[in-house]
Amino acid sequence: MTNLPSEIDVAIIGAGAAGLGAARALENSGLSVIVLEARDRIGGRARTVMAAPGIPFDMGCGWLHSADQNSFVAIAGRLGVEIDKTRAPWRQQSYDRSFSKDDRASFFAASDAFYERAERAAEHGPDAPASTCLEPGNRWNPMLDAISTYINGVELDHVSLHDMDAYENTEVNWRLPSGYGALIAAYGAPCPVSLNTEVSVIDHSGPRVKIVTSKGTLSAAKVIVTVPSNLIAGEAIRFDPPLPGKVDAALGLPLGANNKVMLALSGDDDLPKDAGLRGAATQSGVGSFHLRPFGRPCIEGFYGGAFARELEDAGDGALSAQAIDEVVALLGSNYRSRLTPLVETRWVHDSFSQGAYSAAKPGHAAARAMLAAPVDGRLFFAGEATSPHFFSTAHGARDSGERAAGEVIAARTRTKV
Ligand SMILES: Cc1cc2nc3c(=O)[nH]c(=O)nc-3n(C[C@H](O)[C@H](O)[C@H](O)COP(=O)(O)OP(=O)(O)OC[C@H]3O[C@@H](n4cnc5c(N)ncnc54)[C@H](O)[C@@H]3O)c2cc1C
Repeated sequence: MTNLPSEIDVAIIGAGAAGLGAARALENSGLSVIVLEARDRIGGRARTVMAAPGIPFDMGCGWLHSADQNSFVAIAGRLGVEIDKTRAPWRQQSYDRSFSKDDRASFFAASDAFYERAERAAEHGPDAPASTCLEPGNRWNPMLDAISTYINGVELDHVSLHDMDAYENTEVNWRLPSGYGALIAAYGAPCPVSLNTEVSVIDHSGPRVKIVTSKGTLSAAKVIVTVPSNLIAGEAIRFDPPLPGKVDAALGLPLGANNKVMLALSGDDDLPKDAGLRGAATQSGVGSFHLRPFGRPCIEGFYGGAFARELEDAGDGALSAQAIDEVVALLGSNYRSRLTPLVETRWVHDSFSQGAYSAAKPGHAAARAMLAAPVDGRLFFAGEATSPHFFSTAHGARDSGERAAGEVIAARTRTKV
């Protein structure tokens, strides 16, 4: 942990994947750098905890999405961290018992047709809610909506078609047995971070930028802001003079709701390892389950959208109780006594994230570039919400930090740092 200096070349606000990516990219730049982090740990929405002995649990990011283009894959290689390439349990790996093979084939045909319609509509038409591409009356619409809550944190009527189309999904998804949060913490370990340092004001009215924090004030030549879009939208950090364009951009990129729950599974290992479990949903508020991840004695549940928000609002234990009820309904009442809640997340009530990940509102796909744009060659912006094609992910966040660091270095040749 680094103490708060009174003057610095570059202050980075937030020690999530984006802030750490920026700090690592500035390592040999000759600039003095400090990362200001409100929490008592680095990683932000990347966090691995031990749910039980032998069961690391990623409370936030868990999947190396678009793994063939994911910058954390090479980083894991450099750090000697094991990567698991078992196929994700979302399609072929589904568990037959709850969602028959025929129903699955019918659902995936409807899903493929929906995404093709959405792609065509995005390429040839104006922006609109993604829900406009659903086939009216199709029996799988609630399930497509449920999948949207997992991917976007919101139902399809809240998702911009153009934004959805901009996301690069290479369909290669890998995992880290020791946890994605643990990898990001190891990646960020060399960074100079001042923890428990909450930034409240960025005063850019003078020749240097004055940053007011819970630990005192410091002045910086340049600042990289990486806090989640909801905090910019709600002006949890106040810019002086104000930056209404940034607030508007962030308002178009709200964080949706996603939460996970880890349940311990006792008894015989009669369930398949690394299989997906879900019913043929007739409603969008439903969990998606990962049976025995890495062969471990547990089941991980994932919820999104309005239902995840509702369960979080209902208080501690509501998510676990819902997950157990759903697993029991799908697998049988003998599972009730075999399942014990270990950990559940509450990302919407977390003051320093206020949600899970960003989805552009219909009509606001351009907001990502607006949020990312530098101001006066002194204020720079990163974070998953600013990523043009890998938004909502940890690698998109990291890459955006590296991009902002590059902008700082480029601006330095034009001004005196
Ligand atoms: C449930 C869930 C599942 C997910 N699954 C995946 C997945 O499988 N794969 C994937 O790639 N991504 C996933 N994500 C998304 C991924 O975790 C995020 O996109 C990524 O971690 C965001 O990084 P960031 O640096 O942009 O933001 P953050 O990690 O939120 O970092 C911002 C930092 O700023 C700090 N901060 C906030 N306010 C202040 C302040 N006023 N002063 C100082 N510091 C402040 C915060 O404490 C935080 O540390 C998931 C997220 C959730 C919640």
